[in-house]
Amino acid sequence: MVQVDAIVVGGGPAGLTAATYLRRFLRSCVVLDAGFSRARYIPESHNCPGFPQGVSGRALLRRLREQAEAVDTEIVEACVDRLERVDGGFVVGAGGRSWEARCVMLATGLADRLPDAAWAEDAIACGALRLCAICDAYEASDQRIGVYGPAGAILGHARFLRSYSARVTLLPADRAPSRHALREARRLGVEVLPAGGALEFDGARCRYRAPDGTRTGFDTVYPYLGYAGRNVLLRGLGLPAEDDGALRVDRHQRTRVPGLYAIGDVVSGLNQISVAVGQAAVAATHAHNALPFAARA
Ligand SMILES: Cc1cc2nc3c(=O)[nH]c(=O)nc-3n(C[C@H](O)[C@H](O)[C@H](O)COP(=O)(O)OP(=O)(O)OC[C@H]3O[C@@H](n4cnc5c(N)ncnc54)[C@H](O)[C@@H]3O)c2cc1C
Repeated sequence: MVQVDAIVVGGGPAGLTAATYLRRFLRSCVVLDAGFSRARYIPESHNCPGFPQGVSGRALLRRLREQAEAVDTEIVEACVDRLERVDGGFVVGAGGRSWEARCVMLATGLADRLPDAAWAEDAIACGALRLCAICDAYEASDQRIGVYGPAGAILGHARFLRSYSARVTLLPADRAPSRHALREARRLGVEVLPAGGALEFDGARCRYRAPDGTRTGFDTVYPYLGYAGRNVLLRGLGLPAEDDGALRVDRHQRTRVPGLYAIGDVVSGLNQISVAVGQAAVAATHAHNALPFAARA
């Protein structure tokens, strides 16, 4: 069993930043990462601090990894399937391997629910589908924007997008919006197409096919189909997720389990890179101060 000061579960922006901080505090740590950061979907981010020309998610992950490795962070490709409390810390397991540490940073993010179609990732790559209006509505300014998802959930998103474009259309995936929602859509100048249609992709743009077969094309579509949290590892620790699937933490990013921190999308309500790396800095600094003091020889 490998013993370190801290184990970071997840190698996205949150986990890699936490590891860089911990190593620069001269703490031993290992990053265990399954390799499917949400950031890999980002064709080009323009709100990531320090990149005025934009940066792709994959390029950003490469840089963050390079920065962590420059201070000798060990990054292991592994899907963690076990997180247990033991006397004085935690044991984390992946397959047959295990690591022991006094503290754990949970940075496992979340998984977007995408339209159930083989083309979904291609459509994201070319901006025909966008998953995060806070991230990139600016780039969609004045475009024909479709907002796809459950009728009960999409109006609020359409309202947000309406300040970027006069051409926003609700695409209710399940049922017709309520009368109140229809009134509100009219008030906002948001068009509503018949419910129960499906999204299609022609290699460049998405279309909405209504139940009667009518097709309407969009420059970009935001699907709001929800997330799956990646906090299954916590089940054994008795830490319930909140209603939105996120974890509750204190201002140091501590969960209610001593020594267990949670950072990034797995905990945040605002799923952004800048938030994830900020939380990582806070958690790593607190963890360093909480670990036993080690004077330099
Ligand atoms: C299309 C798209 C565009 C976006 N654009 C922007 C943008 O422009 N600006 C912005 O700020 N944000 C953007 N985001 C959001 C941003 O990607 C996330 O906020 C950010 O990636 C969160 O970082 P994280 O480290 O918390 O989680 P993630 O990046 O998701 O990383 C989590 C890591 O944990 C690993 N993991 C999960 N479970 C396990 C396990 N059991 N064992 C080991 N490893 C595990 C995963 O493999 C993954 O590598 C966008 C997201 C999407 C999908």
